[in-house]
Amino acid sequence: MSLKSSKYRLYPTRKQAEKLQLTLDRTRELYNAALQERRDAYEIIKRRPDFYDAQARKQAIQAHNITYYSQANQLPEIKDIRQEYRDIHSQVLQDVLRKADKTFKAFFARCKRGDTPGFPRYKGRDRYNSFTYPQGGYSLTHDSRVCLSKIGSIKVKLHRPLEGKVKTCSITREGTCWYVVFACEVEAELLPVSDGSVGIDLGLLHFATLSTGETIENPRYFRKGEKKREKLQQSLSRKKRGSRRRKKAVKQVAKAHRKVRNQRADFLHKESRQLVNTYGLMVFEELQPANMSRRARPKQDENGKYLPNGASAKSGVNKSIQDAGWNQFVQYCSYKAANAGRIVLTVNPRYTSQVCSGCGTVKKKELSERWHSCECGTELDRDHNAALNILRLGRSQRGATRVEAPRL
Ligand SMILES: [Zn+2]
Repeated sequence: MSLKSSKYRLYPTRKQAEKLQLTLDRTRELYNAALQERRDAYEIIKRRPDFYDAQARKQAIQAHNITYYSQANQLPEIKDIRQEYRDIHSQVLQDVLRKADKTFKAFFARCKRGDTPGFPRYKGRDRYNSFTYPQGGYSLTHDSRVCLSKIGSIKVKLHRPLEGKVKTCSITREGTCWYVVFACEVEAELLPVSDGSVGIDLGLLHFATLSTGETIENPRYFRKGEKKREKLQQSLSRKKRGSRRRKKAVKQVAKAHRKVRNQRADFLHKESRQLVNTYGLMVFEELQPANMSRRARPKQDENGKYLPNGASAKSGVNKSIQDAGWNQFVQYCSYKAANAGRIVLTVNPRYTSQVCSGCGTVKKKELSERWHSCECGTELDRDHNAALNILRLGRSQRGATRVEAPRL
């Protein structure tokens, strides 16, 4: 069993769109309030003089512990004070608090691991775009309408049939458009067993190079559309704050971004489907996008003078990295593979481009060297060599670190 989500466009009436927006505004307010309560508790603990005493800190944390349940128990009271919250299905409100809880748990888990994550942030109007019916309160009629509790029955365009058993129903807003997303439980459709295996080197020159020597080329939608987006952005910055023209320009910019996002997702879906259909085992390098896309630190010499740090070159690379969406690609392959009973592995990327795939000796190369040439007679493209190494590493550790399919 696995979860598959299907997204459909909604066509609310003006009145219904207002109701949807009101629900979104109120759930956002609740989310931020839930965050606030937790932030306050965290501050109290942090300001204690005995914060660095492990025993005392543990007690303080227990005393001020805020959980999903302690917040959910306050919902009836909130509804008494703020009547408008009665117009929202209770499970939708509970889901908001569950999301805040999840955000905090992830934050603390990262702290524990020794990372220094940013404190969970309040969500602005543009950063809070969906609410969810986690169990009930919604239904889909035969005449293509979604009935949402406390909102109404909204016209939906089912451009493809809904598969599986619906588990949750989310409403999202993108710009001025509304969508419904059903997360459905579907039976895994196992593909026949395949002995084929492939190593995949994700790169900048080619989106991917396979150990077979084939390549998948980079989509350049992002770059192509960039000029247009820059123009739109500039025209936006010239508009007066609060003006109608500015509002219109904001919409145009958002629409242009949405278009690239959709094009990119299409590309990644198509290519990952192709790989999963062809190979029983797919091996990738582990990616560290958080580190890769971080800005290069400024470098100083002994006299305090700033040295070139390659930041401009790097930000160009960063752009391509985001452009290519490798991480998303590996995720798509992983969940498609999990559904099909096939395997995706990731391996340590160290030396994969330096080691000779023919004899195993290390051949140091600069990033600019595109060709791998070895005394043993191995002659091939740099990325092809890397893909062969990735495949070898994957075969040797097969079964040791199976990648779990992410839950969507
Ligand atoms: Zn060699």
